[in-house]
Amino acid sequence: MRERIEDFLDRTERVQLLAAPTPLHALSGFSEYKDVQAYIKRDDMTGLGPGGNKVRSLEYILGEAVSIGCKKILAAGPVQSNLCTLTAAACARLGLECELVHNGEEPEKKEGNLLLNGLLGTVSHFLGSCDSSERNAYTEELAASYEKAGIPSYVVRNGATTGRGALGYTAAVREMKRQCEEMQIHNMTIFAPGGNGGVAAGLIYGNEMLGRPFRIVIISVEDDRDTLIRHIEKTIHETEKITGITMEAAVEETAEISDLYRGAGWGMDTRESKEEILRFSRQEGIFIENIYNSKVVVGMKDWIRKGKAKGAVCYLHTGGFGSLFAQY
Ligand SMILES: *Cc1c(COP(=O)(O)O)cnc(C)c1O
Repeated sequence: MRERIEDFLDRTERVQLLAAPTPLHALSGFSEYKDVQAYIKRDDMTGLGPGGNKVRSLEYILGEAVSIGCKKILAAGPVQSNLCTLTAAACARLGLECELVHNGEEPEKKEGNLLLNGLLGTVSHFLGSCDSSERNAYTEELAASYEKAGIPSYVVRNGATTGRGALGYTAAVREMKRQCEEMQIHNMTIFAPGGNGGVAAGLIYGNEMLGRPFRIVIISVEDDRDTLIRHIEKTIHETEKITGITMEAAVEETAEISDLYRGAGWGMDTRESKEEILRFSRQEGIFIENIYNSKVVVGMKDWIRKGKAKGAVCYLHTGGFGSLFAQY
Protein backbone atom coordinates (compact mmCIF):
# COMPACT_ATOMS: atom_id res chain seq x y z
CA MET A 1 0.00 0.00 0.00
CA ARG A 2 2.79 2.32 1.01
CA GLU A 3 4.74 1.85 -2.22
CA ARG A 4 1.62 2.12 -4.33
CA ILE A 5 0.56 5.44 -2.80
CA GLU A 6 4.08 6.87 -2.93
CA ASP A 7 4.31 5.85 -6.56
CA PHE A 8 0.94 7.44 -7.29
CA LEU A 9 1.92 10.71 -5.58
CA ASP A 10 5.14 10.85 -7.58
CA ARG A 11 3.43 10.22 -10.90
CA THR A 12 0.13 12.13 -10.77
CA GLU A 13 -0.27 15.58 -12.32
CA ARG A 14 1.00 18.25 -9.98
CA VAL A 15 2.39 21.77 -10.18
CA GLN A 16 5.17 22.81 -7.83
CA LEU A 17 4.00 25.59 -5.49
CA LEU A 18 5.01 24.51 -2.02
CA ALA A 19 8.17 25.46 -0.15
CA ALA A 20 8.61 21.91 1.18
CA PRO A 21 9.15 20.75 3.78
CA THR A 22 7.43 23.41 5.87
CA PRO A 23 9.11 23.83 9.28
CA LEU A 24 8.29 21.50 12.15
CA HIS A 25 9.59 22.95 15.38
CA ALA A 26 9.02 23.02 19.13
CA LEU A 27 6.53 25.37 20.80
CA SER A 28 7.73 27.24 23.86
CA GLY A 29 4.45 27.94 25.64
CA PHE A 30 3.74 24.38 26.77
CA SER A 31 6.48 23.90 29.38
CA GLU A 32 3.93 23.66 32.20
CA TYR A 33 2.81 20.30 30.77
CA LYS A 34 5.58 18.01 31.98
CA ASP A 35 4.85 14.84 30.05
CA VAL A 36 4.37 16.61 26.73
CA GLN A 37 6.71 17.79 23.98
CA ALA A 38 4.74 20.28 21.94
CA TYR A 39 5.48 20.99 18.28
CA ILE A 40 3.98 23.05 15.51
CA LYS A 41 3.86 22.17 11.82
CA ARG A 42 4.12 25.46 9.97
CA ASP A 43 1.69 25.12 7.10
CA ASP A 44 1.10 28.82 7.59
CA MET A 45 4.48 29.04 5.83
CA THR A 46 3.77 27.16 2.63
CA GLY A 47 5.66 29.72 0.59
CA LEU A 48 2.97 31.34 -1.54
CA GLY A 49 0.85 34.44 -0.86
CA PRO A 50 -0.04 34.63 2.84
CA GLY A 51 0.57 30.85 3.17
CA GLY A 52 -1.80 28.14 4.34
CA ASN A 53 -3.01 24.60 3.78
CA LYS A 54 -4.71 25.25 0.44
CA VAL A 55 -1.32 25.54 -1.28
CA ARG A 56 -0.95 21.78 -0.81
CA SER A 57 -4.37 21.04 -2.35
CA LEU A 58 -3.80 23.48 -5.20
CA GLU A 59 -0.64 21.65 -6.28
CA TYR A 60 -2.77 18.66 -7.26
CA ILE A 61 -5.90 20.54 -8.36
CA LEU A 62 -4.08 23.01 -10.61
CA GLY A 63 -1.82 20.15 -11.75
CA GLU A 64 -4.91 18.60 -13.27
CA ALA A 65 -6.10 21.95 -14.69
CA VAL A 66 -2.77 22.56 -16.43
CA SER A 67 -2.54 18.99 -17.73
CA ILE A 68 -5.87 19.36 -19.54
CA GLY A 69 -4.86 22.70 -21.02
CA CYS A 70 -6.92 25.14 -18.94
CA LYS A 71 -5.68 28.71 -18.92
CA LYS A 72 -8.44 30.28 -16.85
CA ILE A 73 -9.05 29.26 -13.25
CA LEU A 74 -12.18 30.15 -11.29
CA ALA A 75 -12.58 29.90 -7.52
CA ALA A 76 -15.43 30.91 -5.23
CA GLY A 77 -15.76 31.75 -1.58
CA PRO A 78 -16.75 34.39 0.96
CA VAL A 79 -14.92 37.71 0.65
CA GLN A 80 -12.20 36.70 3.12
CA SER A 81 -11.73 33.24 1.60
CA ASN A 82 -8.21 31.90 2.05
CA LEU A 83 -8.73 29.56 -0.89
CA CYS A 84 -9.54 32.48 -3.21
CA THR A 85 -6.40 34.42 -2.33
CA LEU A 86 -4.15 31.37 -2.57
CA THR A 87 -5.68 30.41 -5.92
CA ALA A 88 -4.99 33.94 -7.17
CA ALA A 89 -1.40 33.78 -5.92
CA ALA A 90 -0.87 30.33 -7.47
CA CYS A 91 -2.25 31.54 -10.80
CA ALA A 92 0.12 34.52 -10.69
CA ARG A 93 3.05 32.17 -10.15
CA LEU A 94 1.94 29.79 -12.90
CA GLY A 95 0.93 32.43 -15.46
CA LEU A 96 -2.73 31.45 -15.44
CA GLU A 97 -5.71 33.82 -15.45
CA CYS A 98 -7.74 33.83 -12.24
CA GLU A 99 -11.29 34.98 -11.54
CA LEU A 100 -12.86 34.95 -8.11
CA VAL A 101 -16.54 34.86 -7.22
CA HIS A 102 -17.60 36.12 -3.81
CA ASN A 103 -20.95 35.99 -2.05
CA GLY A 104 -20.93 39.35 -0.32
CA GLU A 105 -20.81 43.03 -1.14
CA GLU A 106 -17.72 44.74 -2.46
CA PRO A 107 -16.50 46.81 0.48
CA GLU A 108 -15.27 50.35 -0.07
CA LYS A 109 -12.11 49.75 1.88
CA LYS A 110 -10.38 46.50 0.98
CA GLU A 111 -8.71 44.70 3.85
CA GLY A 112 -7.25 41.28 4.64
CA ASN A 113 -7.41 38.79 1.80
CA LEU A 114 -9.37 41.21 -0.39
CA LEU A 115 -6.51 43.67 -0.28
CA LEU A 116 -4.15 40.89 -1.35
CA ASN A 117 -6.46 39.85 -4.20
CA GLY A 118 -6.32 43.43 -5.46
CA LEU A 119 -2.52 43.47 -5.31
CA LEU A 120 -2.48 40.21 -7.28
CA GLY A 121 -4.56 41.86 -10.01
CA THR A 122 -7.31 39.26 -9.90
CA VAL A 123 -10.73 39.79 -11.51
CA SER A 124 -13.31 39.57 -8.71
CA HIS A 125 -17.10 39.21 -8.95
CA PHE A 126 -19.17 40.30 -5.95
CA LEU A 127 -22.65 38.78 -5.96
CA GLY A 128 -24.00 40.58 -2.91
CA SER A 129 -25.64 38.57 -0.20
CA CYS A 130 -26.51 35.08 -1.43
CA ASP A 131 -25.81 31.56 -0.21
CA SER A 132 -22.94 29.36 -1.30
CA SER A 133 -25.04 27.24 -3.65
CA GLU A 134 -26.11 30.33 -5.64
CA ARG A 135 -22.52 31.52 -5.67
CA ASN A 136 -21.31 28.14 -6.93
CA ALA A 137 -23.99 28.00 -9.61
CA TYR A 138 -22.89 31.44 -10.84
CA THR A 139 -19.28 30.24 -10.96
CA GLU A 140 -20.19 27.18 -13.03
CA GLU A 141 -22.18 29.34 -15.46
CA LEU A 142 -19.27 31.73 -15.80
CA ALA A 143 -16.93 28.82 -16.56
CA ALA A 144 -19.41 27.43 -19.09
CA SER A 145 -19.61 30.80 -20.84
CA TYR A 146 -15.81 30.92 -21.18
CA GLU A 147 -15.77 27.37 -22.49
CA LYS A 148 -18.35 28.36 -25.09
CA ALA A 149 -16.15 31.29 -26.11
CA GLY A 150 -13.28 28.84 -26.65
CA ILE A 151 -11.40 29.54 -23.41
CA PRO A 152 -10.72 26.28 -21.52
CA SER A 153 -11.68 26.99 -17.90
CA TYR A 154 -11.33 25.08 -14.66
CA VAL A 155 -13.36 25.56 -11.48
CA VAL A 156 -11.71 24.91 -8.11
CA ARG A 157 -14.72 23.34 -6.38
CA ASN A 158 -15.89 23.03 -2.78
CA GLY A 159 -13.15 25.18 -1.23
CA ALA A 160 -10.53 22.77 -2.67
CA THR A 161 -11.98 19.96 -0.56
CA THR A 162 -12.08 17.39 -3.34
CA GLY A 163 -10.57 13.98 -3.94
CA ARG A 164 -7.63 15.54 -5.77
CA GLY A 165 -7.25 18.35 -3.25
CA ALA A 166 -6.94 15.82 -0.42
CA LEU A 167 -3.83 14.39 -2.09
CA GLY A 168 -2.05 17.47 -0.74
CA TYR A 169 -2.36 16.25 2.84
CA THR A 170 -1.75 12.64 1.84
CA ALA A 171 1.63 13.88 0.62
CA ALA A 172 2.00 15.99 3.78
CA VAL A 173 1.85 12.84 5.91
CA ARG A 174 4.83 11.50 3.98
CA GLU A 175 6.64 14.81 4.50
CA MET A 176 5.96 14.83 8.25
CA LYS A 177 6.92 11.18 8.61
CA ARG A 178 10.33 11.94 7.09
CA GLN A 179 10.75 15.02 9.29
CA CYS A 180 9.92 13.06 12.43
CA GLU A 181 12.38 10.34 11.48
CA GLU A 182 15.13 12.94 11.03
CA MET A 183 14.25 14.75 14.25
CA GLN A 184 13.75 11.45 16.14
CA ILE A 185 10.22 12.35 17.19
CA HIS A 186 8.19 9.23 17.94
CA ASN A 187 4.45 8.52 18.17
CA MET A 188 3.34 12.06 17.49
CA THR A 189 -0.28 13.12 17.87
CA ILE A 190 -1.33 15.67 15.26
CA PHE A 191 -4.15 18.14 15.99
CA ALA A 192 -5.74 19.58 12.86
CA PRO A 193 -8.91 21.54 12.04
CA GLY A 194 -12.00 20.16 10.34
CA GLY A 195 -13.97 22.60 8.20
CA ASN A 196 -15.16 20.99 4.96
CA GLY A 197 -12.93 18.10 5.96
CA GLY A 198 -10.38 18.22 3.15
CA VAL A 199 -7.31 18.52 5.37
CA ALA A 200 -8.73 15.80 7.62
CA ALA A 201 -9.48 13.47 4.70
CA GLY A 202 -5.98 13.80 3.29
CA LEU A 203 -4.35 13.30 6.68
CA ILE A 204 -6.45 10.27 7.59
CA TYR A 205 -6.08 8.64 4.18
CA GLY A 206 -2.35 9.35 4.03
CA ASN A 207 -1.82 8.09 7.56
CA GLU A 208 -3.54 4.80 6.69
CA MET A 209 -1.64 4.42 3.43
CA LEU A 210 1.71 5.02 5.12
CA GLY A 211 1.14 2.56 7.97
CA ARG A 212 -0.26 4.86 10.66
CA PRO A 213 2.87 6.79 11.63
CA PHE A 214 0.71 9.28 13.56
CA ARG A 215 -2.25 9.53 15.87
CA ILE A 216 -4.68 12.05 14.35
CA VAL A 217 -7.13 14.27 16.18
CA ILE A 218 -9.51 16.44 14.18
CA ILE A 219 -11.11 19.42 15.90
CA SER A 220 -14.27 20.55 14.14
CA VAL A 221 -14.47 24.30 13.62
CA GLU A 222 -17.79 24.12 11.81
CA ASP A 223 -20.16 21.13 11.86
CA ASP A 224 -21.25 18.54 14.39
CA ARG A 225 -19.19 15.36 14.58
CA ASP A 226 -21.45 13.15 12.42
CA THR A 227 -21.71 15.74 9.67
CA LEU A 228 -17.95 16.26 9.62
CA ILE A 229 -17.35 12.49 9.49
CA ARG A 230 -19.70 12.24 6.49
CA HIS A 231 -17.80 15.04 4.71
CA ILE A 232 -14.48 13.32 5.42
CA GLU A 233 -15.76 9.95 4.20
CA LYS A 234 -17.10 11.46 1.00
CA THR A 235 -13.78 13.10 0.19
CA ILE A 236 -11.80 9.95 1.02
CA HIS A 237 -14.03 7.96 -1.37
CA GLU A 238 -13.28 10.50 -4.10
CA THR A 239 -9.56 10.18 -3.40
CA GLU A 240 -9.77 6.38 -3.49
CA LYS A 241 -11.37 6.54 -6.93
CA ILE A 242 -8.53 8.71 -8.17
CA THR A 243 -5.70 6.62 -6.73
CA GLY A 244 -7.37 3.22 -7.10
CA ILE A 245 -6.21 2.38 -3.58
CA THR A 246 -8.91 1.87 -0.95
CA MET A 247 -8.61 2.43 2.75
CA GLU A 248 -9.87 -0.59 4.66
CA ALA A 249 -10.57 0.95 8.07
CA ALA A 250 -13.46 3.31 8.85
CA VAL A 251 -12.68 6.98 9.48
CA GLU A 252 -13.79 6.75 13.12
CA GLU A 253 -11.41 3.85 13.80
CA THR A 254 -8.39 5.67 12.46
CA ALA A 255 -8.84 9.19 13.80
CA GLU A 256 -10.42 10.89 16.77
CA ILE A 257 -12.89 13.60 15.88
CA SER A 258 -14.25 16.15 18.31
CA ASP A 259 -16.89 18.84 17.92
CA LEU A 260 -16.55 20.14 21.48
CA TYR A 261 -14.62 23.31 20.70
CA ARG A 262 -16.50 24.79 17.74
CA GLY A 263 -18.85 27.03 19.73
CA ALA A 264 -21.72 28.14 17.52
CA GLY A 265 -19.85 26.99 14.39
CA TRP A 266 -17.88 28.42 11.50
CA GLY A 267 -16.53 31.89 12.14
CA MET A 268 -18.15 32.08 15.58
CA ASP A 269 -15.45 32.49 18.17
CA THR A 270 -15.68 31.26 21.73
CA ARG A 271 -14.32 32.97 24.85
CA GLU A 272 -11.46 30.43 24.97
CA SER A 273 -10.59 30.82 21.28
CA LYS A 274 -10.43 34.61 21.58
CA GLU A 275 -8.12 34.33 24.57
CA GLU A 276 -5.95 31.78 22.80
CA ILE A 277 -5.25 34.12 19.86
CA LEU A 278 -3.65 36.58 22.25
CA ARG A 279 -1.91 34.00 24.41
CA PHE A 280 -0.45 32.19 21.42
CA SER A 281 0.92 35.27 19.69
CA ARG A 282 2.34 36.63 22.94
CA GLN A 283 4.00 33.33 23.90
CA GLU A 284 5.14 32.04 20.55
CA GLY A 285 5.46 35.10 18.31
CA ILE A 286 3.25 33.23 15.84
CA PHE A 287 -0.14 34.51 14.76
CA ILE A 288 -3.24 32.36 14.74
CA GLU A 289 -6.69 33.43 13.54
CA ASN A 290 -10.24 32.96 14.68
CA ILE A 291 -11.93 30.68 12.19
CA TYR A 292 -9.64 27.65 11.75
CA ASN A 293 -6.70 28.03 14.13
CA SER A 294 -7.56 29.08 17.66
CA LYS A 295 -10.21 26.42 18.35
CA VAL A 296 -7.73 23.69 17.45
CA VAL A 297 -5.14 25.05 19.91
CA VAL A 298 -7.86 25.26 22.58
CA GLY A 299 -8.80 21.63 21.87
CA MET A 300 -5.20 20.46 21.92
CA LYS A 301 -4.56 22.11 25.29
CA ASP A 302 -7.73 20.61 26.73
CA TRP A 303 -6.67 17.13 25.60
CA ILE A 304 -3.24 17.63 27.17
CA ARG A 305 -4.73 18.92 30.44
CA LYS A 306 -7.08 15.94 30.65
CA GLY A 307 -4.22 13.51 30.01
CA LYS A 308 -5.72 12.38 26.68
CA ALA A 309 -2.56 13.33 24.76
CA LYS A 310 0.97 12.70 26.00
CA GLY A 311 4.46 12.64 24.52
CA ALA A 312 4.93 14.40 21.20
CA VAL A 313 1.92 16.52 20.24
CA CYS A 314 1.77 18.75 17.20
CA TYR A 315 -0.48 21.61 16.24
CA LEU A 316 -0.93 21.71 12.46
CA HIS A 317 -1.08 25.43 11.68
CA THR A 318 -3.15 25.69 8.51
CA GLY A 319 -2.60 29.42 7.93
CA GLY A 320 -5.28 31.98 7.24
CA PHE A 321 -3.06 34.95 8.08
CA GLY A 322 -4.64 37.15 5.40
CA SER A 323 -8.07 36.97 6.98
CA LEU A 324 -6.76 37.90 10.45
CA PHE A 325 -6.58 41.54 9.33
CA ALA A 326 -10.33 41.53 8.73
CA GLN A 327 -11.17 39.78 12.02
CA TYR A 328 -10.47 42.74 14.30
C1 LIG B 1 -9.75 25.88 4.35
C2 LIG B 1 -8.98 26.00 5.61
C3 LIG B 1 -8.98 24.98 6.57
C4 LIG B 1 -9.79 23.75 6.60
O1 LIG B 1 -10.01 23.11 5.55
P1 LIG B 1 -11.01 21.94 5.27
O2 LIG B 1 -10.17 21.14 4.38
O3 LIG B 1 -12.14 22.60 4.61
O4 LIG B 1 -11.40 21.25 6.50
C5 LIG B 1 -8.22 25.16 7.70
N1 LIG B 1 -7.50 26.27 7.90
C6 LIG B 1 -7.48 27.26 7.01
C7 LIG B 1 -6.68 28.46 7.31
C8 LIG B 1 -8.22 27.17 5.83
O5 LIG B 1 -8.19 28.17 4.95
